[in-house]
Amino acid sequence: MIIKSVNITKNNIELTKPFSYFLATLKYLPYAMIKINMDNGIMGYGEASFGWDTTGEMQDGGMEIFNSIIKPILKNKKIESISDIENILVEVNKYVYGNTALKAGLEFALLDALGKFKNKPVYKLFGGIKNDYIIPQKVFSFEENNFEKLKKEIDGLKKQGVSYFKFKAGGNVDHLVEIFNKFLKIDSDYSFIIDVNQGWENSKKAVKMIRKLEKFNIAWIEQPIYHADFEGLAEIRKQTKIPIMADESCHNILDLENLYLRKSIDMINIKLAKCGGMIEAKKMIDFCDKHGIGYMLGDMLQSSLGTAANLHAATLGNFISYDLTVPNKIKNDLFSGLIFDGSRVYIPKSYGLGVTKK
Ligand SMILES: [Mg+2]
Repeated sequence: MIIKSVNITKNNIELTKPFSYFLATLKYLPYAMIKINMDNGIMGYGEASFGWDTTGEMQDGGMEIFNSIIKPILKNKKIESISDIENILVEVNKYVYGNTALKAGLEFALLDALGKFKNKPVYKLFGGIKNDYIIPQKVFSFEENNFEKLKKEIDGLKKQGVSYFKFKAGGNVDHLVEIFNKFLKIDSDYSFIIDVNQGWENSKKAVKMIRKLEKFNIAWIEQPIYHADFEGLAEIRKQTKIPIMADESCHNILDLENLYLRKSIDMINIKLAKCGGMIEAKKMIDFCDKHGIGYMLGDMLQSSLGTAANLHAATLGNFISYDLTVPNKIKNDLFSGLIFDGSRVYIPKSYGLGVTKK
């Protein structure tokens, strides 16, 4: 099948309540929807989730690059296999540096169309599936400070099989230490993740913060310092037993190789919007498996369309954990079809990405 036309539209996703982390408070997500029409009538959809702090992309820039540079590349291209899609992405990469969220959105639309063409869900295009569902970790904004409310929510989720609870840390951890102390008094079995989103400036400050956390059951600390400070991450690793995960530092396979060579990581957070899509993510997973690096699958807060892509990506490897947008976070979801059951989220089984435009 041949690409007949493509278009990109602004897709502002409203959040049911503002989401805060060290760098920003988001009320809505300025994204874009990519639609690809094939000559046989098949339509493929993809979502580009621009996060300026993570990939340097913004909505208007993404629209402009897509319309002026990527659109002409796509014209009349044949899509009948994953390698056809990979070849297109290689060509796009020659003309456009970075812009990985935009490229991931493009890849999702192409995979969606290819799956529909082959009568297969996207995960089957890549191989197979081990589990029918995943159980994502629960993420708390750093404003959370009501222990009773937190405990009730966490205990309920634990019963549903959720094993990781991630706290966005902000610049200081004292309020978290206070909360964790209360959990520790009850049971040392509560396992927490700290996501600092680069908030601790340098390795010296990071180690100071980490010392305050070492008595708790911390599964890992995510991106404690500035993304480009690979040496700093290595320094922190020398000084603590808590595993260190790179998120903003690790976008693609090249970052991963670099972090590994500098001994900067125990784990990484793979996000499709950072690496440019599932094909690149698979290369990162293979590298991690070969070198004993743990990996989780992150997400960018997405509509059901982007979340569907993440669910297919969840079948590509043995992820330690998953971040996933649950439906009550989004007000105006343009897609439907995902199945949620308690904390379980099912991998879509219908053809393509497995969600339908409302
Ligand atoms: Mg993170």
